[in-house]
Amino acid sequence: MAHEQDILKQAAPKQPPRLTSRRIGIHTSTAGGVQNASERAYRLGCNTLQIFSSSPRRWAPYELSDAQCAEMVRRRAKYDLKPLVIHTNYLVNLASSSQLFLKRSMQAFRGEVERALALCADYLVLHPGSFRGADREQGLLRTAAAIAASTEGLDLVKGGLTILIENTAGAEFSLGGSFEQVAEVLDHLCGIVPVGSCIDTCHTHVAGYDIVSQDGLCKTLRQLDSVIGLSRVKVVHCNDAKAARGSKLDRHQHIGKGTIGKEAFRMLLNDLRLAHAAFIAETPIDKPGDDKRNVEALKKLVM
Ligand SMILES: [Zn+2]
Ligand SMILES: [Zn+2]
Repeated sequence: MAHEQDILKQAAPKQPPRLTSRRIGIHTSTAGGVQNASERAYRLGCNTLQIFSSSPRRWAPYELSDAQCAEMVRRRAKYDLKPLVIHTNYLVNLASSSQLFLKRSMQAFRGEVERALALCADYLVLHPGSFRGADREQGLLRTAAAIAASTEGLDLVKGGLTILIENTAGAEFSLGGSFEQVAEVLDHLCGIVPVGSCIDTCHTHVAGYDIVSQDGLCKTLRQLDSVIGLSRVKVVHCNDAKAARGSKLDRHQHIGKGTIGKEAFRMLLNDLRLAHAAFIAETPIDKPGDDKRNVEALKKLVM
């Protein structure tokens, strides 16, 4: 995002944004310090937010001072921004067959958990990883074991932090392309680490589930409920898709402008079984204001 287009550089809104009965937010930039994300999320009209706490495609964690963490807590309370969701760096692969890469991923993931605890985050979202070099079953077991091992000695329960396993587009060797695979990781960790799931609409659609027709979405939600349990779905990533259903191509699109269409989002946002969830867009910013427009688009669908 170019700096002159940063919402923080514009005049503060005179009126508080109109909020809905649902928690709606967007993945928000931490440029200039993690605490700035709260201010941006508020100005974008959000009442929840997602951030990275490390560079998404490099191994560099953000340096967090106690003062920044305290400021984040203060601004979130001021603006009633909850939950705070942190998305794990994309390089982390807790299913890796390479001992060296696995070790590096586990160290990085432990850092993610430590920063999430320092920031008083509610959820840490993790993709279950890639099983290249092994089989899927081994991969799922390895991910679960690595989550348990890399969080050893950290008190997630006391910190109010839950690890959320996200479903994926399921391309090639990537784990989590079905609700069953997500559930398997959750089941392995039950009673060991607080876990739940994050369901991404784009990933669900391109993985092959029907969420476009009304009947299809009802059936997909029934499946999701019986396999994972809707009460364990804590975050819904609201992304429209550029690619076709079943294509396994993960390309996010603006809400209502893709192959999913806005009706699916309307149904999800208004389903009482998901009223507890945070709905977070990870939509592209092709031109200034796209982030605000996507948040608005979701809010407008809430009845
Ligand atoms: Zn996502
Ligand atoms: Zn995605």
